[in-house]
Amino acid sequence: MSVKKKHVKISLVGNPNSGKSTLFNILTGLNQKIANFPGVTVEKKTGRCKIYNSATGEPTNFEITDLPGTYSLYPKSPDERIPFQVLCDPGDENHPDLVILIADGTNLKRSLFLASQVIDLKIPAVLALNMMDLVKEQGLDITIKDLELRLGVRVIPINARKGEGLEELRQTLLLNLTVPDHDIFETKDLAPKVFKGIREQLNLRSDYAALQIAHHADSLEDFHIASKQKETILELTKLHLFEGIKIQSFETLERYKVIHEIIKDCTIQSQEIQKPSSTKRIDRILMHRFWGYVCFLGILFLMFQAIFSLASFPMNFIDQTFAGFSEQVHNLLPKGVLNDLIVNGVLAGIGGIIIFIPQIALLFTFIAILEDTGYMARVSFLMDKLMRKFGLNGRSVIPLISGVACAVPAILSTRTIGSWKERIITIMVTPLMSCSARLPVYTLLIALIIPQKMLFGIFNLQGLVMMSLYLIGFLAAIGSAAFMHWFVKAKEKAYFIMEIPVYRMPRWSNIVYAIVEKIRIFLFDAGKVIIAISIILWFLSSRGPGEKYNTLNAQIDSMAVTGVPSTNLNYHLQAQRLEASYAGKMGHILEPVIKPLGFDWKIGIALVTSFAAREVFVGTMSTIYSVGQQGESMTIRDKMQAEINPETGGPRYTPAVGWSLMLFYAFAMQCMSTMAVVRRETGGWKWPIIQFSYMAVLAYVSSLIAFQLLK
Ligand code: GDP
Repeated sequence: MSVKKKHVKISLVGNPNSGKSTLFNILTGLNQKIANFPGVTVEKKTGRCKIYNSATGEPTNFEITDLPGTYSLYPKSPDERIPFQVLCDPGDENHPDLVILIADGTNLKRSLFLASQVIDLKIPAVLALNMMDLVKEQGLDITIKDLELRLGVRVIPINARKGEGLEELRQTLLLNLTVPDHDIFETKDLAPKVFKGIREQLNLRSDYAALQIAHHADSLEDFHIASKQKETILELTKLHLFEGIKIQSFETLERYKVIHEIIKDCTIQSQEIQKPSSTKRIDRILMHRFWGYVCFLGILFLMFQAIFSLASFPMNFIDQTFAGFSEQVHNLLPKGVLNDLIVNGVLAGIGGIIIFIPQIALLFTFIAILEDTGYMARVSFLMDKLMRKFGLNGRSVIPLISGVACAVPAILSTRTIGSWKERIITIMVTPLMSCSARLPVYTLLIALIIPQKMLFGIFNLQGLVMMSLYLIGFLAAIGSAAFMHWFVKAKEKAYFIMEIPVYRMPRWSNIVYAIVEKIRIFLFDAGKVIIAISIILWFLSSRGPGEKYNTLNAQIDSMAVTGVPSTNLNYHLQAQRLEASYAGKMGHILEPVIKPLGFDWKIGIALVTSFAAREVFVGTMSTIYSVGQQGESMTIRDKMQAEINPETGGPRYTPAVGWSLMLFYAFAMQCMSTMAVVRRETGGWKWPIIQFSYMAVLAYVSSLIAFQLLK
């Protein structure tokens, strides 16, 4: 019988960007598990490792949890509530036996604020002083021994990126770590009776832990404390007039004073290093009041130009290979329903998905690089003032830019926005940013209505139109935000604290991982919906109610059997058959409503089916057109280009129709996943319904105006 090995529980605690994930990855290697913290959608990374005592060779098992980054134990966002809760609730399943505090050595003041709070909780801890390479580069000398004395915990200088100092850190974890007997911030005299009462109730290790409980006495719902005890604690704080906010501001001031002293006594700044670090030099341009914006726009511009021109090669290749492959399958399999289902249902659907992988991969590559180098944080900072005018905040920029990839993770990333009002507005407008699901739609329509030519010999015209669509999405987002600013009532005052990391080379392995992961999600999550809908659609468009459909079907079959070549009559019959199908009927029902936008019943069908996911538009069009004109290796673009509008005798897809459609897809919600996430994040259907409705109105009105003006 195997005995379950005991693991020492470690929490990894630190500010965002202090190198937590890097350290976590080195310590746990591939032995990781990703789940969610109970009850919330905050990601929880845990990993296991075995450390051997260098003297005795004896192994000890550890379980390490990487807690979300935070600046203090007073949480300002749902993400930050996790470390607070795990550390302050002794009954929490993740409550650690041991804490690794990770501090950014180049930013001691801020790192030590959080570290000293955790040390005052009196949980055994060790401080990993990270970024020592940058500390040295900046000419800063930190006396480790003095720092250890002042903090009362072991301090191990490390460079997590290069893995330096890690063996010493590992060996330190094996020591019997004790807690200091002094407080860094003197707590006990602030409210002795309250602290004593709470410590008796909960068996806490320190007055500071009691202070934290007292401060949050009315919001302990998630704590593993009996409700009777919660009541007693609340009564205690009321009885002794415990003023949490006042004590918090006093603590903040005092703690910073002590930290200031510690830094003064434990560091020496060498005078020799006069020249600005490379980060400062780069920032003089990238963070400049004028050039900063110019550079940002320039970077976006290059990004979209690159995506468009680079992606076109693999896309053409995939497009042609797939058309050829479909035709081969069509010829190989025996004729019949199965052949039809596979070629025109399943393969048409799959082809519609994989063609967009090159673009999505490129887009995510750029976003991941911008994020990993530290530029994205600067963009947030740069944009804060501007964003504020529109009821947003600097932190809204990251969700908005991530919205260019996909609104779902973007909306989840709004959790870092402290103010409820700014957060809700960001959530409301993020889906207006052009996400990657719109790319397939835009790509197809641009190829249809915009000629492939160069402007002034350098600008790809199609690329420019693509960029303008992204710009339209962005303008609509900030315009709507400004509008909502007047309607959404604020619950609290907003403030902005954002950290500006130093520039770093991107970690390519992370980037590759991010891209593979995103493509996987796109292929398998979105892909499932797309293929399922393609099959339903194939059914709807190859079956019809009543006799009319069957008669037409029989007529076409008999022509095929007797070897009649593809004539106009044949095409005409096929078009009639499609119109008689279930899908055709649905499109017809919609037609009167969408006619003023320049859309016919075929587009009507696509609007219905892409209600769940925008990218389905392309799959639908592929299916509709392949069902209409079987057996050729023409691509969907060629087929749509050849489509004639019977009313005008000219092409169906004129620029007016193309723009109208693109604007419709730019503004309409059409994404079930986004709606589901918004519901979860706002706690009800109210906001997703408001969002769906305002986006629908925006889409309809703008398409109407575009079509009527351009036709
Ligand atoms: P987290 O937000 O705390 O998880 O931080 P990460 O682990 O993602 O690290 C933030 C950035 O700091 C990454 O670009 C790391 O490569 C970088 N980094 C981590 N440790 C060090 C270090 O010791 N020296 C330097 N120069 N960079 C580091």
